[in-house]
Amino acid sequence: MTRVLVVGGGISGITAALKSAQAGYDVTLIESRPYLGGRAYSYWDSSQEEWIDNCQHIIMGCCREITDLLKELDVYEKIKWYDKYRFLYDSKQISELASSILPAPFHLIPAFFNNQYYGTKDKIQLCRSIAKLWLTETVFIEPKQIISAEEWLLKAGQSECLMNGFWHPLIVSAFNTPANEVPWTALKQSIELAFLGNKDGYRLGVFTNSLNEIFHQAAMRKLTEHNVHVLLNTSINTVHWDELAKVRGLISKNQEMFYSDVYISCLPNMRSAVLFNSHKQRCFKPSPIMSLHLWVKDEITQEDCLCLPGRKIHWMFNKNKQYDRSLKTNQYLTFVISAADDLMDKTNLEIQKLLLPEISEIFPKLENTQIEAVRILREPGATFRFNISSSQKRPYTYMGGNVLFAGDYTDTDWPGTMEGSVISGINAVEILKSLWKP
Ligand SMILES: Cc1cc2nc3c(=O)[nH]c(=O)nc-3n(C[C@H](O)[C@H](O)[C@H](O)COP(=O)(O)OP(=O)(O)OC[C@H]3O[C@@H](n4cnc5c(N)ncnc54)[C@H](O)[C@@H]3O)c2cc1C
Repeated sequence: MTRVLVVGGGISGITAALKSAQAGYDVTLIESRPYLGGRAYSYWDSSQEEWIDNCQHIIMGCCREITDLLKELDVYEKIKWYDKYRFLYDSKQISELASSILPAPFHLIPAFFNNQYYGTKDKIQLCRSIAKLWLTETVFIEPKQIISAEEWLLKAGQSECLMNGFWHPLIVSAFNTPANEVPWTALKQSIELAFLGNKDGYRLGVFTNSLNEIFHQAAMRKLTEHNVHVLLNTSINTVHWDELAKVRGLISKNQEMFYSDVYISCLPNMRSAVLFNSHKQRCFKPSPIMSLHLWVKDEITQEDCLCLPGRKIHWMFNKNKQYDRSLKTNQYLTFVISAADDLMDKTNLEIQKLLLPEISEIFPKLENTQIEAVRILREPGATFRFNISSSQKRPYTYMGGNVLFAGDYTDTDWPGTMEGSVISGINAVEILKSLWKP
């Protein structure tokens, strides 16, 4: 039986290990931390007595592969789908994104036209630019012709109101990269997938359980069921190459040696590049995400989740509406700031001083209740920066020898997302099957 050693137990590693085991290989999965899930993890907060996710993780209806993986892990029913979600503008106007009875790609047009924040001219411009994005052919486009999404949109006549109210929040949330860096071709692709391709691509999914339950506990159960040997707390720090530039084995921090026939690196970009052949792999600039977790004595909002255009905070998620918190009397909210470069060096106190007034302005009831706890979580390397340069240089899954590469940064076309990670794991196993028999 061909042995496969998957190193890195994030979502790409879980996918690669599960799919190779299902294909009949003898699989071992090695993970340095005491749990699976990688960048989608939770920690137990003993003073709040609940699991806290490192940040709200959302999926969209167009993320078909992560949805399938969740089905395979038997946790699909732990996704709460929103067919409608709301935008709260700085002017306090609220609009809703919801599908209509029209067929795709026209199903969201009524929602755009019902939006009170934009004038009629803006609404027409928005529909025209989406149609233009859709209809512009990118197959024969030269790399040097690829400009940023922001530049493209401004050339397409988008007003400041549309840029701030629609495009900037959409792009920074989808790519964790500002619109002046994201290539317009990637924007085109995500608009097609999320808004035009079919009627449910725009839907938003959140988990009703912690990331630990989804990506550690459920994944452990399923991998064990498929006879994958999972080794936690095992950090690989050296690769033993043979004279033909094939990997002979991996050596852990504790000097244990792991031999296999094929190796699938599902490590984060930088770690993978250092460990395996850095000349073939590039290191992309990381892009941070910050989340502020807030517990208040009394309810300050009944909204499930809100997109907050034109503000420092991009999204609010109401954990009371996601989790079963029936034994708790307080309210737990998570606020997310993508591409949060300018906040990363600030102290917790500085961040609170900056963000709590904004939260009070959005939810004035905050003034009349007690803040029970605040947690600020920084993830400096949340994703790679999806800019014009990185989008053209993403590493291939297979570059020779007996090593395959997976991870959200590899050549999947997707930004750094759970969907991209799952696709990268699937790609690695497809190549594995084509080159090595089980
Ligand atoms: C704050 C935050 C918010 C996010 N929000 C979203 C979202 O809303 N929607 C979405 O789709 N995506 C989101 N993402 C991105 C998503 O979490 C990642 O794209 C995905 O989890 C990456 O999975 P991966 O397997 O490619 O890499 P990783 O999760 O980085 O997995 C790599 C694994 O390798 C392990 N490892 C590292 N070094 C070693 C070693 N030497 N030996 C053994 N193991 C090692 C690590 O511990 C880790 O488990 C978010 C990420 C963060 C951080």
